[in-house]
Amino acid sequence: MLVRGVVKRCLLGLRHVSGRGQVLSAAAARLQHTQPEQSAQPGHSTRRETSSAKTLMDIGTRRIFNEDHDMFRESVRRFFQEEVVPHHKEWEKAGQVSREVWEKAGEQGLLGVMVPEEHGGIGGDLLSTVVTWEEQMYSNCSGPGFALHSDIVMPYLVNYGSKKQIDRFIPQMMAGKCIGAIAMTEPGAGSDLQGVRTYAKKDGSDWILNGNKVFITNGWMSDLVVVVTVTNREAKTAAHGISLFLVENGMKGFQKGRKLEKIGLKAQDTAELFFEDVRLPADALLGELNKGFYYLMNELPQERLMIADMAVSSAEFMFEETRNYVLQRKAFGKTVAHLQTVQHKLAELKTEICVGRSFVDNCLQLHAEKRLDPATASMAKFWGSDLQNRVANQCLQLHGGWGYMWEYPIAKAFVDSRVQPIYGGTNEIMKELIARTIVGQK
Ligand SMILES: Cc1cc2nc3c(=O)[nH]c(=O)nc-3n(C[C@H](O)[C@H](O)[C@H](O)COP(=O)(O)OP(=O)(O)OC[C@H]3O[C@@H](n4cnc5c(N)ncnc54)[C@H](O)[C@@H]3O)c2cc1C
Repeated sequence: MLVRGVVKRCLLGLRHVSGRGQVLSAAAARLQHTQPEQSAQPGHSTRRETSSAKTLMDIGTRRIFNEDHDMFRESVRRFFQEEVVPHHKEWEKAGQVSREVWEKAGEQGLLGVMVPEEHGGIGGDLLSTVVTWEEQMYSNCSGPGFALHSDIVMPYLVNYGSKKQIDRFIPQMMAGKCIGAIAMTEPGAGSDLQGVRTYAKKDGSDWILNGNKVFITNGWMSDLVVVVTVTNREAKTAAHGISLFLVENGMKGFQKGRKLEKIGLKAQDTAELFFEDVRLPADALLGELNKGFYYLMNELPQERLMIADMAVSSAEFMFEETRNYVLQRKAFGKTVAHLQTVQHKLAELKTEICVGRSFVDNCLQLHAEKRLDPATASMAKFWGSDLQNRVANQCLQLHGGWGYMWEYPIAKAFVDSRVQPIYGGTNEIMKELIARTIVGQK
């Protein structure tokens, strides 16, 4: 089984991981004592769903996963607790993570889990890579841009790249030595991608690239950027004149702007990128000329599903963090958890999260079977990220004043949640996409 390879590689890698480091968050500490539950049987799953599990982050739950995924999850959980959590505060101050953590993630086989064996990857299944998304959210550490690198940027190379491009970049990206980014958004074009102005002009067999991009995740640390570029200004629609180029760090005329100061995602290096007469060789073109917009439309549902799954996972983390807090916090001579209004609030939150989890798990299963349609992915993104923000708001409230203090994990989870309805296509755009399937194309 392919996924066994993933597990084996991770477990082998993790033998070299050093000691435990800092104090874990309350929810994370609780997680470490969670025992895997009974395994799935084909066609007859005995695995619990999150609604009946001890915690919403238990290993061994949810019928979409199996025992191999559980083993992998244990190793990924350990990686985040040992290699990411202890350094995150320092990275928040620096506005970026270390290069070292990227390479460690590569050594553990956590980058590009789905890259097929024919391209030198492990050929893991979708649900194995989903484990890496979820465990990052359960660690409450948003700094490393692993998910974007592995499951947004790498698929463009694997699906549309030439053998030469794949051979050159994919092994380095899997090793965490080449950090990937994707640059669509511009100061004047976000939701309306057809409004992109960055332009590449043909010059012999080369291209000359000019323009600038903004809000690019992994932008400051990036070694390789997939740049969305206009290549035909005369095309019958803007969508017919867009291509993707691979732009490498260090190319003459490629400048990175400042790391942008954000209200959340403090350890993530979101940056502006500038291209001034960057000369690109013909083989920097990714896929076919003027097909870029179609490639984007093909790949965006996976990005949206990822945001949805990470959103629900974050909600699960926040719920457990809050459950733990109210069970300890005293007011009026007893714990806050004894108050009936608090109990009802927790009941509402858990129900909402489990409803969201159920829908997102269904979408994950559909996507694993290549049956997830774009509108359903948009529903998951819109619903999941709104849910995450409702949960963040209520969970912070249940922490009282301490919830507003940066030292409490809920404060970080709260600010990190806010961007989820914005990027990957805003939730308003998601509703547009869903509406088109209801009332037809406008
Ligand atoms: C932290 C962060 C990381 C990001 N990472 C990346 C990245 O790696 N790569 C990348 O390319 N981009 C990235 N983005 C950009 C992100 O995808 C855009 O910000 C987003 O698509 C919205 O575009 P905009 O900011 O230009 O907003 P606008 O498009 O200007 O929208 C402003 C408002 O108008 C609404 N609106 C616009 N059009 C419509 C419509 N037709 N109907 C209804 N409402 C509408 C929007 O929903 C929004 O509320 C990132 C952004 C952030 C904040």
